[in-house]
Amino acid sequence: MKASLDDRIARALELAKIHPSAASLLSFYRELAQFQTQVLADVQSNSETDVRGLARHFPALMELVHRSGTELLATFAAHHLTSTAAQEKLLTDCWEQLPANGWDAEPPARFFARVLLQPYAEYLASRGDVRSDGAGPICPFCNARPVAGVLRGEGEGAKRWLLCSLCSTEWPFRRVLCPGCGEENKDKLPIYTCAQFDSVRVDACDTCWTYLKSVDLTKDGHAVPVVDEIATVALNIWAEEHGYSKLETNLLGM
Ligand SMILES: [Zn+2]
Ligand SMILES: [Zn+2]
Repeated sequence: MKASLDDRIARALELAKIHPSAASLLSFYRELAQFQTQVLADVQSNSETDVRGLARHFPALMELVHRSGTELLATFAAHHLTSTAAQEKLLTDCWEQLPANGWDAEPPARFFARVLLQPYAEYLASRGDVRSDGAGPICPFCNARPVAGVLRGEGEGAKRWLLCSLCSTEWPFRRVLCPGCGEENKDKLPIYTCAQFDSVRVDACDTCWTYLKSVDLTKDGHAVPVVDEIATVALNIWAEEHGYSKLETNLLGM
């Protein structure tokens, strides 16, 4: 069920051709996913269980950001991530603060932590016992918030799953229920679609004014939710212009 990093890289390449306006974002994402492939292989071969062990990948990540990332990220690294102690502190702080209330760290700190913690969390989740019946709004494995919804065909309709923003676990979640505040009144939960992205929609809530995008696999079976979510950044802009804030940002901070 979970898309491998290779699947994500291939999908990013494919979507860059379909949505040229998101090509530069997808190209940066692809480089990050390639980098995460090496981190994952390293975590697997060392059976890594201490987040501080991830600090050894900072030099390569900082080089990648310097080459392909934004000025904001490069400046943050140059000021705040110069020592191993600072790098380890960022990793442990973000890992320990993870629960439902989200990450307190500022966006560039979250970016660096998440690029490294994602493969680590995915590795742990792949070995751990995930309670897939967890029906709550946060990940039943790592407690992070969902980055997207996923709709899969089941019987007559489609069933919704939430996709963890950190460990990529998916868990079932009722379709008419806001993961931000628990609203269950259908009239308060508008769904927005647009012709340009017919397999991705905005699931909004007019009670807490949050939104999450859902990727509909019944409309595009080739979609890789985490990547299709990034490729449809135009929908985020639309939602935010209409007063909604995203429940959880993606790896790129959007
Ligand atoms: Zn998780
Ligand atoms: Zn809500």
